[in-house]
Amino acid sequence: MIPAASFTGKRVSLFGLGGSGIATARALIEGGADVLAWDDNPDSVAKAAAVGIATADLRGADWAKFSAFVLSPGVPLTHPKPHWTVELARGSGVEIIGDIELFCRERMLSAPTSPFIAITGTNGKSTTTALTAHILKAAGRDTQMGGNIGRAVMTLDPPEPDRHYVVECSSYQIDLAPSINPTAGILLNLTPDHLDRHGTMQHYAAIKERLVAGSETAIVGIDDSWCAQIAERLERAGRHVIRISKRLPLTDGYFADGGNLMEAVHGRYSRVAFLEGIGSLRGQHNAQNALAAVASCLRVGLELGEIQSGLESFPGLAHRMEQVGRKDHVLFINDSKATNADAAAPALSSFARIYWIAGGLPKEGGIEPLRGFFPRIAKAYLIGEAAPAFSATLGEAVPYEISGTLAAAVEHAAHDAAKDDSGEAVVLLSPACASFDQFKNFEVRGEAFRQAANAIEGVKPIGGAR
Ligand code: ADP
Repeated sequence: MIPAASFTGKRVSLFGLGGSGIATARALIEGGADVLAWDDNPDSVAKAAAVGIATADLRGADWAKFSAFVLSPGVPLTHPKPHWTVELARGSGVEIIGDIELFCRERMLSAPTSPFIAITGTNGKSTTTALTAHILKAAGRDTQMGGNIGRAVMTLDPPEPDRHYVVECSSYQIDLAPSINPTAGILLNLTPDHLDRHGTMQHYAAIKERLVAGSETAIVGIDDSWCAQIAERLERAGRHVIRISKRLPLTDGYFADGGNLMEAVHGRYSRVAFLEGIGSLRGQHNAQNALAAVASCLRVGLELGEIQSGLESFPGLAHRMEQVGRKDHVLFINDSKATNADAAAPALSSFARIYWIAGGLPKEGGIEPLRGFFPRIAKAYLIGEAAPAFSATLGEAVPYEISGTLAAAVEHAAHDAAKDDSGEAVVLLSPACASFDQFKNFEVRGEAFRQAANAIEGVKPIGGAR
């Protein structure tokens, strides 16, 4: 745990008592703050009280006495409308921050030079975070990984000069971290997502930009126009910017050329790493993730040999194009994490003969952006609330059935793929939807897929990423 010494002896209010909220409250208490916490869910309040956190309905609190208000990133700060606690904090002029901000302040107090890599973007954050932390650990560096992945940031070990932090940041967390200042900040890409919580694309992009704007070195994927403009703007403002591209040769920066990761310095190229044969980093999207990881690891002083061996030993993450089973020529791929069309595109672009399981709780834009991949889809199996809308988009272009449930979809897709005699056939769960209509979260959905696939007679489970 990182005791939050920046609020020693001060009163702090906190709202949102999920796992990270409780961890943050404890870190504040450990650092000597006087914390008053609340949640709209009585069960969460009871859990917090049970571990010794003072709780009270913050409607009745004297807000003028609080030095800061710590908000859980899951609670609306701006859209669709500010939470009632946000209105109360603003009304009393109390600063509103989140756990990443607390971490940044602690790092500045106790070990300001400790290497800190922060990662954001619409897609690829977790993969890039896990990959970067893996490469650093494999090279023997003291490495802590957390934030929006795995452990809440304040539960990590306290900052020390040689301790490396690799922290995944959602836009909500950045919105609550006004002084975020990583050694290397990574912005992978920007496409519309979570606009219900951010209002407009402009607002969403502006929040993400803050992470790289505060970085000593800004590593920016310039394959979309939003990020390309951000890189330009930062450079014009005199910031140190490293551009990465998964598809374009750059004059300066890092880019992918097939399976090779290249460095460009004033138009002169050299290979810094390669991805051929690394099953956990298949696809152009993973080239983007790997380029960002490589650039950040070089920035904190790793050698090329150390980086290559870390890339090669990366086990991958569960639910992201994860191979879960095989029966003869049929491969079962769990890409449950693909909760929007953009996130599903990489998997659809990586295979030629696809029995595609899609659907769930629909996101804006549906699957229209995936039309270019329709010729690869032998048949679609639609589940959940999105099924009618998806079937309308598929129309005459792709054969489909409305399977309803995931279990039925897996069974039917496996049956059809087994009869496909044109080479490798892939039963792919890449839903392009949130899971909440039928499952608790994408992990539960992915596990259900793994189990259904492996329950089919003759399917051999494939280990790998867990
Ligand atoms: P995040 O943490 O940003 O949600 P993940 O690494 O968990 O990202 O990957 C989520 C999904 O996005 C996966 O289905 C994967 O196929 C896709 N994806 C991963 N990296 C990228 C990328 N760089 N660009 C676009 N899509 C990606």
